[in-house]
Amino acid sequence: MRFSAIASFSWFLFGAAFASGEESRSTCDELAFILPNSTFYPEAPAYNASISSYPFLQLRLHPSCIIRPKSARDVSQAISVLKDSNCTRFAVKGGGHNANAGFNNIQNGVTIDMQSLNDVEVARGDKVVRVSAGALWQKVYDTAEKRNLTVLGGRIGVVGTAGFLTGGGISFFSPEHGWACDAVVNFEVVLASGEIVNANATSQPDLYAALKGGQSNFGIVTRFDLKAFPATTIWGGRTVYHPNATIPLLTAFTEFKSGEYDPYAAGWVTVRYNHTAATFNPVSIMWYTKPAQKPGALKSILEVKPQIMNGRVEAPVSEHTRNASRMVVADPKRTIWATTSFSISPTIVHRIHALWKEVVPEVAKQYAYAKPVAEITFQALPAPPRNGTSPNSLGFTAAETPEKDLVFLQIIFTFDDEAATEGFEEALKDFLKLIEGLAKDEGVLHRYKYLNFAASFQDPLASYGQEQKDTLREVAEKYDPEGVFQKQVPGGFKLF
Ligand SMILES: Cc1cc2nc3c(=O)[nH]c(=O)nc-3n(C[C@H](O)[C@H](O)[C@H](O)COP(=O)(O)OP(=O)(O)OC[C@H]3O[C@@H](n4cnc5c(N)ncnc54)[C@H](O)[C@@H]3O)c2cc1C
Repeated sequence: MRFSAIASFSWFLFGAAFASGEESRSTCDELAFILPNSTFYPEAPAYNASISSYPFLQLRLHPSCIIRPKSARDVSQAISVLKDSNCTRFAVKGGGHNANAGFNNIQNGVTIDMQSLNDVEVARGDKVVRVSAGALWQKVYDTAEKRNLTVLGGRIGVVGTAGFLTGGGISFFSPEHGWACDAVVNFEVVLASGEIVNANATSQPDLYAALKGGQSNFGIVTRFDLKAFPATTIWGGRTVYHPNATIPLLTAFTEFKSGEYDPYAAGWVTVRYNHTAATFNPVSIMWYTKPAQKPGALKSILEVKPQIMNGRVEAPVSEHTRNASRMVVADPKRTIWATTSFSISPTIVHRIHALWKEVVPEVAKQYAYAKPVAEITFQALPAPPRNGTSPNSLGFTAAETPEKDLVFLQIIFTFDDEAATEGFEEALKDFLKLIEGLAKDEGVLHRYKYLNFAASFQDPLASYGQEQKDTLREVAEKYDPEGVFQKQVPGGFKLF
């Protein structure tokens, strides 16, 4: 097994993927002519504010200019300039929470930062929340709750809506209502041609399905219309256990996943290793969305002892997401992550944990100077659309029951020093290989990789199945025949 640094990634960050600075600077000048109040060069405060809004340090690349459009029309004008610019490379940023460097920002090139396009509206008497694509989830919940409504959205307020919804989206209410993308009733999208179109069940239905899982391959979404639900309080939060509780917690999670399905029980369990402190800490972050019937299927997880801290409360969704944001924004670091999925079995969660626990201190020791923290997180996947709901592109048929059978795993390294990046990435690849080997041995490995937590070296679009990927490719070719989003946008998971 190899845990040494092997150059594999740096070409993507600093090499072939970027247009020359000179070429993109002249495109920036054209953009500044057309969008003078929305184009920012490196010396501008708005440019620096954009860069420092990225939550992870590896995302803070420096484009030749940043465009902050205020309307779909601004996005359309920007795309038209970029398309005619002799291949100036560009990136699109929603909330900037995808951890893969180069996915939502670009060195040299042009970054379209959607953060100024952030209106959230609920029409009076309407059951739809209209969310501009640069809005963060906190604003969506705060606005919707004023009308006693809520939506299927992120579980941490600072996360962006656009990447989340176009990659799938797992919400508090997903065990009951499914993927958040399936609650999008209309996408307003700017195509590579600059045309602004609406994609929904009756207008461009192929694009509508493709945007639910196919992310940035078809255009720039400027607005999501989300089906809303009556707002309720939900109960739950974070429980920190004593390290001695790790095995009982993983057993309780296994029982939770193997037992009777409870549509109101949501969340995940994590084991965190802090190399500097030399500690392994088990944590659960679980919610029950019908507080009157709590704790339902969460009972065994929440009864695991000893516990160090219990932060469970009954509160509106907006309060849970605001509290969670406070825990993640404090001290930005470098983060890399990867994912895989498997069917639950009595032993698989324990076996993965045992392997990780053996390997992770060894890896961390090699890069101790970077003060690494490593995590494995186990959580459930939502159901596919059923009962006449329009299809998504995530590759599950209506007859499959991933919500009952499958667990997806997130593997994360967080650290301080850029020099350790390649080493941790190699460790992530090696560790994935070992885990997937284990899962294959048990006959429980599943092909699905959740795009929103996939590493840049993984291929989540292929994990939807070849037929589904071929369909996505056909849709991309239809709506972007010149391949602007395949060739000029180097970041993100590509179709061809
Ligand atoms: C702290 C934290 C909490 C999270 N919580 C959850 C959770 O509860 N549930 C869950 O399912 N996931 C969760 N995630 C994962 C999350 O879904 C992804 O990080 C997602 O990318 C966030 O969306 P964003 O807009 O911030 O992404 P960005 O990083 O801005 O974008 C991601 C990708 O989408 C593309 N994109 C962005 N905007 C547009 C647009 N307007 N049109 C077309 N393409 C666009 C970008 O180019 C990029 O390739 C979490 C992540 C973090 C870091």
